[in-house]
Amino acid sequence: MIKINENFLELQDSYLFSTIAKKVAEFSAKNPDKKIIKLGIGDVTRPIAPAIVEAMKKAVDEEGKSETFRGYGPDQGYEFLREKIVEFDYQKRGVNILPDEIFVSDGAKCDCGNIGDILGIDNIVAITDPVYPVYLDTNVMAGRAGKYNPEKGAYENMIYMPATAENGFVPVFPEKVPDMIYLCLPNNPTGTTLTKNELKKWVDYAKENKSLILFDSAYEAFISEADVPHTIFEIEGAKEVAIEFRSFSKTAGFTGIRCAYTVVPKELKGYTKSGQEICLNNLWNRRHGTKFNGVSYPVQRAAEAVYSEDGQKQIKENIQYYMENAKIIKAGLKEAGYTVFGGINAPYIWLKVPEGMGSWEFFDQLLTKANVVGTPGVGFGPSGEGYFRLTAFGTRENTVEAIERIKRM
Ligand code: PLP
Repeated sequence: MIKINENFLELQDSYLFSTIAKKVAEFSAKNPDKKIIKLGIGDVTRPIAPAIVEAMKKAVDEEGKSETFRGYGPDQGYEFLREKIVEFDYQKRGVNILPDEIFVSDGAKCDCGNIGDILGIDNIVAITDPVYPVYLDTNVMAGRAGKYNPEKGAYENMIYMPATAENGFVPVFPEKVPDMIYLCLPNNPTGTTLTKNELKKWVDYAKENKSLILFDSAYEAFISEADVPHTIFEIEGAKEVAIEFRSFSKTAGFTGIRCAYTVVPKELKGYTKSGQEICLNNLWNRRHGTKFNGVSYPVQRAAEAVYSEDGQKQIKENIQYYMENAKIIKAGLKEAGYTVFGGINAPYIWLKVPEGMGSWEFFDQLLTKANVVGTPGVGFGPSGEGYFRLTAFGTRENTVEAIERIKRM
């Protein structure tokens, strides 16, 4: 008899995006004349930059000629890409990372989930609240989260660290010391981040407690303030305690093309039950090589072109475009009397819904009165109740119109 992984039965159905889709479909059916503007899902709208498209086309042509055809590539990623990553994303920021510490993959989402393969099931896990749901659900699947408590809206074995307006979106160290700590900075969904000094405290805390920080910096390219670290490895000692996840999805519009990478420093150690130190880079290398066969050659050439002179210029123009949207959203909401957060170092705007209203109530109001779709904060965790997320990834025209409509609401 086949046994299933019963941890999957502990997963709570994520009604967030399906409920949003259902509500929007119902409203559209009743109001076919209304033009709905979607600023909910965090997908990009700008096309891939020309320099990147060109590089990809060239690589596809190479695959069609016997002299230049390439089959399986190295599991860890082609050296031409890993070397560019090392140079541009690390050396230029004064951080020394080796090409062997970079693992190219098809997405930060997969990496954030798969990393659990090399970590013990009895580790205590801490997540911020609200949170990108992948960290929670993958730990539920693995069996680290324990039973779901419907009264608390939380899993028994997980540590939730609220990040709200009350604490300035700076999570405080939990009472119980976690072994694994997920930090997403700049943050999805709040759009806020930590300064170097604030992040250093987490690195020191992890060192003191031999904990591991799983640092997701999918939105690094949107950082505009000087005291915000672009990589956790800018912080002294971080190589001993952190794994970093990066993605080309938002940086260069690769949400459909798929390319990302994970950095596992060689200094980083995990421990056996008997206390023996084990190099996590070796474990991840073994895992990656066994379960993953590499990102396609044309996609890695496309990712390489992100670092070319034209590529850099073109992706920066797109990022500026989105961040200009963020400014428009933020300024418009403020003018309309809302309290707003984020939107400075991230393409997300996190707003406080009017007093006495819940996240979903505000969703309904926005949909029916302004015909604008956003994401209720409570969908990202219990501490997201009373908040609402709008993304800056829309087109300029839609963004401007959505804000005008919200102001008139
Ligand atoms: N990490 C965070 C915080 C995200 O918000 C997202 C996508 O929305 C991802 C990772 C997914 O990245 P990728 O497209 O590389 O899988």
